[in-house]
Amino acid sequence: MIDNDAARQNNAVDGRPDAVQNRFGFLSKPPSREELVTNNGIILYLEDVTLSFDGFKALNDLTLYVEVGELRCIIGPNGAGKTTLMDVITGKTRPDSGSAFYGQTIDLLQMSEPQIATLGIGRKFQKPTVFEQHSVLENLELAMKSDKRVWVSLFKQLTGQEKDRIEEVLNLIGLTDSPRKMAGSLSHGQKQWLEIGMLLMQDPLLLLVDEPVAGMTQQESEATAELLTSLAGEHSVVVVEHDMEFVRSIARQVTVLHEGSVLAEGAFDVIQEDPIVRQVYLGSS
Ligand code: ADP
Ligand code: MG
Repeated sequence: MIDNDAARQNNAVDGRPDAVQNRFGFLSKPPSREELVTNNGIILYLEDVTLSFDGFKALNDLTLYVEVGELRCIIGPNGAGKTTLMDVITGKTRPDSGSAFYGQTIDLLQMSEPQIATLGIGRKFQKPTVFEQHSVLENLELAMKSDKRVWVSLFKQLTGQEKDRIEEVLNLIGLTDSPRKMAGSLSHGQKQWLEIGMLLMQDPLLLLVDEPVAGMTQQESEATAELLTSLAGEHSVVVVEHDMEFVRSIARQVTVLHEGSVLAEGAFDVIQEDPIVRQVYLGSS
């Protein structure tokens, strides 16, 4: 199996006409949680999603619902379709059939990748992509601003509220002591947290995180579990992870993906005892 993650991360956006027909029109500002999530508390609806690559079904009739404020773990062996699922949600890849709604009214399949990025859906790829030549603080500042060209001199212009938010995020990601440190000199784990922090600067309602603990030390993994847990409630967080121990430490609602479909879903304790899950997961990981 090919690891396409790096390639996909760098891929150009697939162009789509900007025909957005929903009650928000073209969004200059992300919808609020209240606007988006109405009576049933669901923020993301994926129904019967199928996506083939040359006849191979990377996603096969996949149905998944994510609730507002939920921390959902998606596990599954390599090649199960986890990253592809995130590609569909963020508009990087179009499914052949099925539907994907953000809240009850926003049809993600009618929107381009840049449009989806304005909706309050933040995505963390597997590899950290921080600005290595800039400080932790500058990275967070850049993430907050929409005009990235003039950002180097922006710190002076931050409002009190923005400064507070930066402080808050530094604290959440455990980098309070190193705001002036060059991002390039951070540990691998710290870079991953900084990138999560950069996403947080945009106050996403839905945060998608792909294999956050790959390459992390045990200690970094534990801190990451803590960080993601602390984000739930305020944000809906979907964490894709291959590492069972990490998922165990989060111990939330788990969806097991296998060959592009949902194999099982439920509380971690129940899932880990499921004989089919054990067979599939342990047999092929
Ligand atoms: P996971 O993230 O669960 O490891 P992926 O979503 O990356 O799995 O991949 C699911 C399957 O789809 C794999 O077999 C992978 O090789 C295949 N795949 C993913 N992207 C492409 C692509 N652009 N072209 C062809 N096959 C792909
Ligand atoms: Mg993957």
